[in-house]
Amino acid sequence: MDYLPVSWRIKDQTVLLVGGGEIALRKARLLVRAGARLRLVSPEVVPELVALVEESGGETLHQRFAETQLDGVLLALAATDDEAVNRHVSEAAQARGIPVNVVDNPPLCTFIFPAIVDRYPLLISITSGGAAPVAARWVRSRIESMLPARWGQLAALMGSRRQRLAEKLPNISARRLFWEKIIDGPVAEKTLAGQTTQAGDMLDQAIEDADAERLTQGEVYLVGAGPGDPDLLTFRALRLLQKADIVLYDRLVSPGVLELARRDAELVYVGKKRSEHVLPQDQINQLLVRYASEGKKVCRLKGGDPFIFGRGGEELESVVAAGINFQVVPGVTAAAGCAAYAGIPLTHRDHAQSVRFVTGHRKENGELNLPWKDFLTPGETLVFYMGLVSLPDISAGLILAGRDPATPAAMISQGTQADQQVVIGTLENLPAQAAAAQPVAPTLIIIGDVVGLYPRYSWFGAGTA
Ligand code: SAH
Repeated sequence: MDYLPVSWRIKDQTVLLVGGGEIALRKARLLVRAGARLRLVSPEVVPELVALVEESGGETLHQRFAETQLDGVLLALAATDDEAVNRHVSEAAQARGIPVNVVDNPPLCTFIFPAIVDRYPLLISITSGGAAPVAARWVRSRIESMLPARWGQLAALMGSRRQRLAEKLPNISARRLFWEKIIDGPVAEKTLAGQTTQAGDMLDQAIEDADAERLTQGEVYLVGAGPGDPDLLTFRALRLLQKADIVLYDRLVSPGVLELARRDAELVYVGKKRSEHVLPQDQINQLLVRYASEGKKVCRLKGGDPFIFGRGGEELESVVAAGINFQVVPGVTAAAGCAAYAGIPLTHRDHAQSVRFVTGHRKENGELNLPWKDFLTPGETLVFYMGLVSLPDISAGLILAGRDPATPAAMISQGTQADQQVVIGTLENLPAQAAAAQPVAPTLIIIGDVVGLYPRYSWFGAGTA
């Protein structure tokens, strides 16, 4: 970082502002809003600025800049159109250890002004450290449009009841949970709709009824993280990720998704690679129960959808048995994600009337134990999860059972991610083609006539082998 963002209390402090035009006026408005007393220096001054300085309890000096004017000031700003004067102010201030800002001239500044979204008392400041002001302004306009104008009133309302809640709930995490509920609930909606008196009454009632024990009860969120691209998360998944105190994730969860967890959340890797589980399943189940019993919001984050080859059911079993509140959030399963990003429709009126998700991991005595005869339905797309290692067996099993060796087949590795790779072949030759491509896990196999549409609908990434 080139600059440290801070919020500075400048109320009743003297700030030197050199310059008497429009730009100085803009800065003066901001400084006066923050309660500064202005010492304005400029031979000529626009009338509005004179009035503003007076309002601030400061003084206007109709003179040129002189170093003695820096006596007793907290900050100095130069906003003249004379480069030499601006430089002089900057150097003189720095020599005295006074923070200085020269408008639109970062090298002469020891501090800079961020772009602001003003929902007083809530203030959001955005800075690009002078590198790309346009980017900062773009972000600001996005946030402006996201935050209703009355957000400030909501923040003020919450501030006005802070003390009362602290008396009612001494437990700090109970208080945080209380406010999280308020900000997502009817009190906030009433405030944003302009009904502040009612909102205040409702808030008082909520404080009256607040119950620390109920608030701090733990919960488990079983959340589908999708196949990799963080854009594919659901809104609910994102919201719960930002709420959770602790996130238990496995290997399939992409780093981009993990980054969306709350900053101070604890992230726990519980593994799950083929045949190499960092934690055995029953220990994961126990962890969920243990953390939730400590009052934590636990997010169990699983690749794809938790209820599709995700052992989501098993993990819930212990949570249910312990009587812990939970919810399940669906995710984009690998079949849907990979199919979409590879441009292979899983069903199609002309080519496929049904689709079947199959695990390629069901081995008994070293043999892939699958009901091959069930996989011969004409016009059915087959999707194999966890099928890379068994791909030769899958191919042989299907052909032996009677499926056409020329059926189009695809292998998608790291689907929806930047390094997605798609290998296209036939049921017969896909094992050889896939082996030659040396795919990186995870990989998904799609078999059926719909794969023939790939050349037409492929749109994402470059990697075709
Ligand atoms: N619950 C997950 C599946 C877990 S089983 C879901 O709904 O997607 C693990 C298998 O999912 C992997 O072996 C692979 O076949 C598939 N898979 C998951 N993410 C994938 C991805 N990004 N690309 C390709 N296959 C993926």
